[in-house]
Amino acid sequence: MDQFSGDLFEEYRQHFTGGLKRMEQGVVFPRGYQSHAATETCPGHSTILTGSRPSRTGIIANTYFDLSIARDDKAVYCAEDETQPGSSSGDYVASPKHLLVPTLGGRMKKANPATRVVSVAGKDRAAIMMGGPTTDQIWWWGGKSYVSYKGVAETPLVAQVNAGIAKLVAQDRPAMELPDFCKPKDVAVSIGGGKSVGTGHFARIAGDTKAFRASPEQDAATLVLAAALIENMELGKQAQTDIISIGLSATDYVGHTYGTEGAEMCLQLATVDRELGAFFERLDKSGVDYEVVLTADHGGHDLPERNREHGIPDAQRVDAALGPKALSDAIGAKLGLTGQVLYGDGAAGDFYVSKTLTPAQRAKVQAEALAMIRANPQVEVVFTKDQIAATPSPSGPPERWSLIQEARASFYAPRSGDFLVMLKPRVTPIPDPTKGYVATHGSPWDYDRRVPILFWRKGIVPFEQPLGVETVDILPTLAAQIGLAVPKGEIDGRCLDIDASAADSCAAK
Ligand SMILES: [Zn+2]
Repeated sequence: MDQFSGDLFEEYRQHFTGGLKRMEQGVVFPRGYQSHAATETCPGHSTILTGSRPSRTGIIANTYFDLSIARDDKAVYCAEDETQPGSSSGDYVASPKHLLVPTLGGRMKKANPATRVVSVAGKDRAAIMMGGPTTDQIWWWGGKSYVSYKGVAETPLVAQVNAGIAKLVAQDRPAMELPDFCKPKDVAVSIGGGKSVGTGHFARIAGDTKAFRASPEQDAATLVLAAALIENMELGKQAQTDIISIGLSATDYVGHTYGTEGAEMCLQLATVDRELGAFFERLDKSGVDYEVVLTADHGGHDLPERNREHGIPDAQRVDAALGPKALSDAIGAKLGLTGQVLYGDGAAGDFYVSKTLTPAQRAKVQAEALAMIRANPQVEVVFTKDQIAATPSPSGPPERWSLIQEARASFYAPRSGDFLVMLKPRVTPIPDPTKGYVATHGSPWDYDRRVPILFWRKGIVPFEQPLGVETVDILPTLAAQIGLAVPKGEIDGRCLDIDASAADSCAAK
C-alpha cells in the first residue's frame, strides 16, 4: 500500500474491520523501516521483494540523472528504457532494466520454472519493481486501463476487467458517506489561492480519470484485476508455490492530493480495509492456502498548512530558491557560465553538476552550490559523493542510523549525484500547494521511513514486535517459509522468525 505509513497504521488500526484488521491481527511489526534516505516510490518498492537496499537494487530515486545519455532529457525514470528513440523521462517506454537484482518471484522461478509470477499495481514502477523482469503477467494502471509492456496485448481476461472499469469511470460517482470516526476530520484547511483540502468525499464527474486514480475506486479496481488473475491462472492450486504482488497506489495519490489527516485519507483507508477484506474472503472461498505480507514503499506526513493547525507551528514549505533550476540560474549568473550547470529532481536529494563544463568549472559550480545550499536555514546537511562513498553500509537497528548511513543505503555510484541535499524535518519540498500536490514524502526522517510490516496466514499465532526491522527482511522471511535458499551475501536483509513459539521459522527446511 503506497504511502501507508507507520503513523497511518497506528492512527487507524483501532478502526479496521476488514482486510487490514486481519493483517493487524497476524504477526505485526508496526515499526518496519524503508531504511534508506530517498524515501520515494520506486526505491521503496525495489526493497520489498528483493531483500536489498537501493544501494544494491540500483533504484536510488524515482528519477535520477544520467548526463552522458544521448537524448536531450538527461533525467531517467527508474522504470524506463532511456535508449528508446524519441523517449523522455516523462514520455517513456516502461522497462525493468534498471533493477539490478532478482526479485523473490525471479528467484522462485529460477529454482522451479513451474512457479508463476504475477504483478499488478496502480503504478508501473510498483508492478515492475516488485515483479522483476521474469513475470508471467504484469499489469499496471496506464491512465485509462490496465496495460503491460510495449507490444504485450491485452488478454481476454484483462480486456474484460478493463471494460468493466471503463463503464464505471464513464458514470458520475456520488460523494461517499463518511463513517462516524471520519466525521471529526471533515474540516477544510486553506492552502491559499482560494483553495482548500480536508472535506473531499470523492464525488467524481463522469470520465474524470484523474479523480478516479486519487480515490478508493482505483484500489478496488486493482484488487478486482488481481482476484481475476488468481482465479483465471489458478494460482496456488498446483504443486509449486506461486506469487502475486499487488501494488495498491490510491493511498499515495490521496496523501499527495489532500494530505494525510483529512476526511479523504480517512475514507480511503476505511474503503481499502473493506475492499481488502472482500478480496481475502474470495481467496478463502477458493480453498487455496496462502500467506500475505502487507507493507508500504515509504511513509509520509501531512501538509504544513494543517500541521500548523495541529500543534506543529514550525511546519513549512521549501524556499523556491533551493530548486535545481533556481540554483543553476543563480550559480551560472554568478560564475558567468551559460546553459544548465546543475541538475536535480526537486529541492532535496541528488544533484548533478553539468558534464559539459571543464573540470575547473565543475569544481567551482559545486563549491558555489554547496555554499548557497548550506547557507539556507531550511537545509539540514549536504553530503558529497565522496563522503557517502567512504561510509560503510549500515547495520544494526534502523531507528539508530545516522543521516549519512541512510544516504549510504540509497547510494549507487554510477547513478547517484555529485552531492545530496537533506532538508530539515517538517520542511515540505513543494513550494506552492496550489499548483498540484499539497503534501509529499521522500525525506530521511522517520515519518517517511517508517512503515508497518504485517504477516498473515490461516492459523498463524499472532505476536507484535515493536522494535525496528527493515522491509529488506521480507524476502528472506518469505523465502524461509517455502524452503528457498538465498545466499546471505546476495542481499541486505535477514530472515524474521515469525513463529511465535520457540520454534524458528527461519530454520532450514
Ligand atoms: Zn510511493
